Amino acid sequence: MAPSELLDGATVHSIARHGKRLAIIAADGRCLVVQLGMSGQLIAGGNASDSHQHVTWLVTNPARGRSINPPTSIPLIFRDPRRFGGLTAYGNTASLYESWNAELGPDALTIQAQALRAAMTGARAVKVALLDQTIVAGVGNIYADESLHVAGIDPRMRCDQLSPQRVTALALAIRTILNRAIKHGGSTLRDYRSGLGAAGTAQALHAVYGRAGEPCRSCGQSLHETRLGGRTTVWCRSCQTGVTSVGATDRK
Ligand SMILES: [Zn+2]
Repeated sequence: MAPSELLDGATVHSIARHGKRLAIIAADGRCLVVQLGMSGQLIAGGNASDSHQHVTWLVTNPARGRSINPPTSIPLIFRDPRRFGGLTAYGNTASLYESWNAELGPDALTIQAQALRAAMTGARAVKVALLDQTIVAGVGNIYADESLHVAGIDPRMRCDQLSPQRVTALALAIRTILNRAIKHGGSTLRDYRSGLGAAGTAQALHAVYGRAGEPCRSCGQSLHETRLGGRTTVWCRSCQTGVTSVGATDRK
């Protein structure tokens, strides 16, 4: 990417986020979208000798007015060891929001039942639909499993067989689970850290994800694992119900 696309020389005007995409918006309209993917990180004050760093910005907080404090600079590093993340440049905010509207569904943090109901159609398994960012933007594998558990829905259930009541429960579960995870600094399973390098603690709250074979915290039955849409899926066969006709090969 050209230095101008990486916002070289720009003044940061604002930050926007939709789903898993973060936009840094410059005062002159240039936008840079950061996608962290599986293991990407934006770290303020990161280690300059990090071998996985792809871009390093020097962010300066200028001295203002009569301030006696000199300007201060910190390095902001984008590192992406597994290379599932990426950076995308937009010349102006209109093209940024156009792409978000075309590629992303409603944001998961505020998803409402009506919008979710309109998007959850067809014969796909509800778990697979939840991972589709055009249906609802911002739900990944961990929080899809956790939300379905809270809503009491079998992840293999077909979207077109979900009752309005179940979709309403699912929308509420998604909002609740995501807001709770944010409050706890996210889930650190391997390498997730906040922008300031802090590990999250939300993984301790997981009811199903990563707990296959362990007892359900609600009913005590052993949690079940299968693969749906290529992703490991864990759920409780007692607490999570629904008519299912989506083929899934059970492992246990
Ligand atoms: Zn259970």
